[in-house]
Amino acid sequence: MRLYLAVFALLAAVHCEELINGDQVLRINAESEDHIQILKMLERDVDSGLDFWTHAVSTERPVDIRVPHSSLHAVKDFLKKNNIPFTVMINNVQELLVREREEMVRNAEIESKTKSFSFAAYHDLETIYNFMDTLANHSKLISKVKIGSTYENRSMYVLKFSTGGVKRPAIWIDAGIHAREWISHATAVWLADRIATDFKENRAPVPSILSKMDIYLMIVANPDGYVFTHRSSSPLYRFWCKSRSATSNPKCQGVDLNRNWDAEFGGPGASDDPCAEDYRGPSSQSEIEVKNIAKFIMSHGNFKSFMTLHSYMQFLMYPYGYIGIDAPDWPELHDVATKASKALNSWHGTVYKVGSIFHTIDQASGASVDWAYLRGIKYSFAFELRDTGEYGFLLPANQIVSTARETWFALRYIMKYVCDHPY
Ligand SMILES: [Zn+2]
Repeated sequence: MRLYLAVFALLAAVHCEELINGDQVLRINAESEDHIQILKMLERDVDSGLDFWTHAVSTERPVDIRVPHSSLHAVKDFLKKNNIPFTVMINNVQELLVREREEMVRNAEIESKTKSFSFAAYHDLETIYNFMDTLANHSKLISKVKIGSTYENRSMYVLKFSTGGVKRPAIWIDAGIHAREWISHATAVWLADRIATDFKENRAPVPSILSKMDIYLMIVANPDGYVFTHRSSSPLYRFWCKSRSATSNPKCQGVDLNRNWDAEFGGPGASDDPCAEDYRGPSSQSEIEVKNIAKFIMSHGNFKSFMTLHSYMQFLMYPYGYIGIDAPDWPELHDVATKASKALNSWHGTVYKVGSIFHTIDQASGASVDWAYLRGIKYSFAFELRDTGEYGFLLPANQIVSTARETWFALRYIMKYVCDHPY
């Protein structure tokens, strides 16, 4: 095994990261603990140029890796020699990227000509922020609240949906803490409009929820990362996940904002290597983005639910992520998540897996949902939206509205439940 790894590392070193045409995403189906260990070793090699979209955890979960075309031959050879089965999930990443960008340009032209906003399209940060302004300017229900600035000095905003009162019990929903998970931002945009419309048209259960509680929706939790994914100077930037802060390694920027929370920070399930995709940062809440959100939630002091949107794999999860034991509220959280996933399924038949983060994805320390739960916010959930591995992070824009709509069914169920079960 050591020999094969050495050959592979040599080939990977000559990979030129600016060329992406021919890059593939391989779906690997580990069949033994040995296979998992080999894949884990590959993932730990941050110089390999491999981009793990999902992680080697168990033989029940596929591992998706974006492989630079210059390393494709070596990687496939390596997998074959180690008898690890794989299929090609995305044949040419570049083709999907080109299509995505062309669609965005075309849509932006239409929107500018018709002075409209399409929910069936991906948008850049500026357009999303303008959309938030329009929404807030046209409704007494909604206000745009600035909760701080990012490392690169961009404003961080939440939309507050409130019918009045001071620090009412509240529900938190965020999206996009991982920059490349564009379907989460796009879903949150649709949700903002849906909450506003349902309130205006008196459609249950939104008016009754908002008569007792406030909803806070953060569409872009990692603005710097999101802006970076839209930079056109390299197609690889589209797969940026972390923040954009400087680290102790001048060659590697950014912290995984979902490993930086003060929730068993530094434990297993996060890396201390600044070049790793799951780099936790130098200390808990070292990242200004995490600090701003945590400060806002703590100073409010009356959040009853914390939900965060990610992609992909179609999971609905609850605490814990940092440890494999059941949370004290496990039976209730599991029941709520199960019923929410059934509500989601009722729309398009999309199937979600329900469970704790630890048992569904993997051990993860410093994650936001654990942080919220450990601070007493009982109804804390994380969503991994569509799909299960046809497009991964490159989910086509024509799936945005159906994804958002089915997610709304689950969120609506949870929000109503939280409203009906005060604590
Ligand atoms: Zn994520």
